[in-house]
Amino acid sequence: MKKGNTYTGYVEYVDFPNKAYVSAQVEEDGVKSVETAVVKNAIPGQTVSFMVNKKKHGKCEGRLLEVIEQADCESNERCPHFGLCGGCVYQTVSYDNQLKMKEKQVHKLLSSVIEGDFCFEGITGSPVSEEYRNKMEFTFGDEYKDGPLALGLHKRNSMYDIVSVLNCKIVDEDYRKILECVLEYAVQEKLKFHHRVTHEGYLRHLLVRKAVKTGQILVDIITTTEDDRKLNDLSEKLQKLELKGKLVGFLHTFNDSLADAVINQGTEVVYGRDYIEEELLGLTFKITPFSFFQTNSLGAEVLYSKVRDYVGLKKEDLDDNSKPVIFDLYSGTGTIAQILAPVAKKVIGVEIVPEAVEAAKINAKLNGLDNCYFIADDVLKALDNIEEKPDFIVLDPPRDGINPKALDKIIAYGVERMVYISCKPTSLIRDLEILQSRGYMVEKSCCVDMFPNTVHVETVCLLSKKP
Ligand code: SAH
Repeated sequence: MKKGNTYTGYVEYVDFPNKAYVSAQVEEDGVKSVETAVVKNAIPGQTVSFMVNKKKHGKCEGRLLEVIEQADCESNERCPHFGLCGGCVYQTVSYDNQLKMKEKQVHKLLSSVIEGDFCFEGITGSPVSEEYRNKMEFTFGDEYKDGPLALGLHKRNSMYDIVSVLNCKIVDEDYRKILECVLEYAVQEKLKFHHRVTHEGYLRHLLVRKAVKTGQILVDIITTTEDDRKLNDLSEKLQKLELKGKLVGFLHTFNDSLADAVINQGTEVVYGRDYIEEELLGLTFKITPFSFFQTNSLGAEVLYSKVRDYVGLKKEDLDDNSKPVIFDLYSGTGTIAQILAPVAKKVIGVEIVPEAVEAAKINAKLNGLDNCYFIADDVLKALDNIEEKPDFIVLDPPRDGINPKALDKIIAYGVERMVYISCKPTSLIRDLEILQSRGYMVEKSCCVDMFPNTVHVETVCLLSKKP
């Protein structure tokens, strides 16, 4: 294959997260051969055309141009934004097949590092595969350079262009109505979006959170301070929307920073209050706009049930003396800590975002739990300052996995068993290699799909000390 040339080929398989291996007939100087290129976002079984845009050490990478023939596993209807929008990749694939694909990808990754036989319990799906998100962060921008104002998600492979996802299928109707209402207001008022390069403009992001169990909705518009308008008129429009859930708060957050991320430099409550409440496994959680909370509530119940199962402690088998001290590292709003509290003498959660830690403390109190403690700090530093020693450790790091120096300190405790929850299996296997070389083995593992239609998947591993 030659850089710049276009080829047609068949997708043999896809590695996590979206690396499709496409084999194509190539003819050069009258000689025919079959060569392979990696093309992102294609689906196993498809015939696609692609352009080779990178060639290094004989390996080719291509950009997907067109799906010429669909794969047999594609039977789902697509939303009008599919393909253009960077959110979903597997939307056309039936949910059963999506699960099979993710299961295979994770099994392959785990098998590449785990020594010996290990018990892989497969994947459990999300109870719902559409309209499942309890949070969405939309971005203001333009659909193309100098095009009309858009509010939605980034286009596939684009840093700048935004697709207005007015028909997005992974959120429910309330999100779609809110999105439309805010976009209409912005167009009417001729408001400008904040440009990532020139750093001019007012509108940045729109954060919507909706609790599945309680129906409570929180809307937060994030702008620069370029315009000093009060958003009471927008607030009234939002309050008049006919929603299935209930709008409990409308917030206005200011962000003048240069980074293209949702950053909180001060928040004003325009209407109502600044949190929603969600229920998971019989516990109530107060969620503020910027604390981490699993984005699929029903999926989170499945994930946390697995975690509880893997931790394997039963209240009836334990008396006060045999209950363990559990560390919940990377604890977010303290959900896992609180789910494990009944089988622990004490749970200590460590989380770097202070707002999430505050929420965790309030939540534990609300749930009547008096044995949960939360520390706002980097895990790497916090472990030096905790006097208590853990009997059991639960790890749920962000995508990059665990900082190697923090992992050293975690291993040094020498606990018998740990549960590692990972939202990125490629980082997980890097950490598993270290854990294995330092005396731990993977006893069992499984996947939970919290993100239907997208490439993401959660993996849970039970680790124990090698005999
Ligand atoms: N266990 C939680 C959150 C998991 S997401 C839940 O199930 O909801 C990972 C969390 O790690 C995020 O809340 C993130 O803010 C936090 N985090 C990221 N880096 C960290 C670090 N170095 N030290 C402590 N927490 C960190």
